[in-house]
Amino acid sequence: MVRVRFAPSPTGYLHIGGLRTALYDYLFAKQNGGKFILRVEDTDRTRFVDDSIENLVKAMEWAGIGHDEGVFIEDGKMVERGEYGPYVQSERLHIYREYMDKLLESGDAYYCFCSKERLEAIREEQKSKQMMLGYDGHCRDLSAEEVKSRIEAGEEYVIRLKLPENEDITFHDLIRGTITMNTKDLDDQVLMKSDGFPTYHMAVVVDDYLMKITHVVRGEEWLPSAPKHVYLFKAFGWDAPEFVHLPTVLNSEKKKLSKRHGDVAVEDFKSKGYLPEALVNYLALIGWSPESNNEFFTMEELVSEFSFDRVSNAGGVFDKQKLDWVNGHYIREADLDRLTELAIPYLIESGEIDSADVENRYDWIKALVAILKDRVSTVAEISEKAKFVFENNIEFETEEAEQTIKESQIIEILAALEEELSAIDEIDEEFSKGIMKALQKKTGVKGKNLFMPIRIAITGQQHGPDLDKIMLVIGKENLLKRIEVVKS
Ligand code: GLU
Repeated sequence: MVRVRFAPSPTGYLHIGGLRTALYDYLFAKQNGGKFILRVEDTDRTRFVDDSIENLVKAMEWAGIGHDEGVFIEDGKMVERGEYGPYVQSERLHIYREYMDKLLESGDAYYCFCSKERLEAIREEQKSKQMMLGYDGHCRDLSAEEVKSRIEAGEEYVIRLKLPENEDITFHDLIRGTITMNTKDLDDQVLMKSDGFPTYHMAVVVDDYLMKITHVVRGEEWLPSAPKHVYLFKAFGWDAPEFVHLPTVLNSEKKKLSKRHGDVAVEDFKSKGYLPEALVNYLALIGWSPESNNEFFTMEELVSEFSFDRVSNAGGVFDKQKLDWVNGHYIREADLDRLTELAIPYLIESGEIDSADVENRYDWIKALVAILKDRVSTVAEISEKAKFVFENNIEFETEEAEQTIKESQIIEILAALEEELSAIDEIDEEFSKGIMKALQKKTGVKGKNLFMPIRIAITGQQHGPDLDKIMLVIGKENLLKRIEVVKS
């Protein structure tokens, strides 16, 4: 059975590159009737950030990328489910210790007592001689007695992998094909640090084996480490899983997408008003090209169409404009009540709506969202675009708008509109649909000469949603106030 894992480190937030890895894991697992596991890799205690596990799980949940096994959040608490736990590496230290001993016994690992100063000095020397950087093997052949006495004397140590001196390590990557690396180009990797914690390299191999992972899917930044992992699998006498190293998500300058260049955290996209299905759809396409020319995919469609065969080995560029376009599409398609619920917090935040009024004004808010949703690329933009609805002191958006209104018969038109409004209690659909005809009759002005000045007078803008719908949401009282402003 296919078993894949997403194994983030809890160092803060979920990067959208990480979300894409999780997505590909999920798609591949579902497609093969397999299992998707979430494991937390927290062996680097210096980088641990509180709450990141919760944020991570929530971000995945929001995106609709559900896992079957591993770490979950229930009622605000972390719980673990599955037969292969614990799924948090810091809870598995005794396991790594046990496997570490096996490697020491078989001679595939050794104690290293080199001080930081010594390591720094050899590094400097290698740099000055333009040599490959790496450990020089100083402690590779210490005798068992020496090791024992130095440990007993309380010297600090790490444990390193003992790579053979000149051996090819070959493995297969589903995207990149066969990869071979010689051990002379590799370092004797630290497997256990002086604090007793395993390094990522040790923990990842032990866990992938014990958790019966069949496919290791991760970012290409781990490709250089893969030969060491493959070697470790061999040293333990285990079959290595399949490897899939995904292309990096790049910014428009073809550099790794990072916080310095804008939003990268999944929660940033959520809070800016991106819909999860849009972000997922767009992320799926960074790196993967579908067989069809389709641009829009539901999760089910992704599950059936996705394949690693069509994932490129070159980095994929994150194109914000394209994401906005995809998001706009999903906003237009979204259920109106859902969109209204999503838009309400933004309207409250911008001070346009009082949270106490939301219930009473729900239908009105929904009508507002309905007229704006076709013109936005994020939910947050609904609130920005709604400003004209709340502000009666209209400002003309452009000089052209002001000019147009000056050259029109606006005074006559507005007088006629005022008259029509005085005959009703409130604007309803019948009124708003019939008003243009009535004004045309009254003033003799028609077509663009009629509706453009009205549009500008009541919104300040030359473009926007249908005028009848605008009138409906603005309402009689506000409309009359705006007429006064323009007249004065
Ligand atoms: N903990 C690693 C990371 O956060 C995971 C690498 C892997 O999937 O093997 O990138």
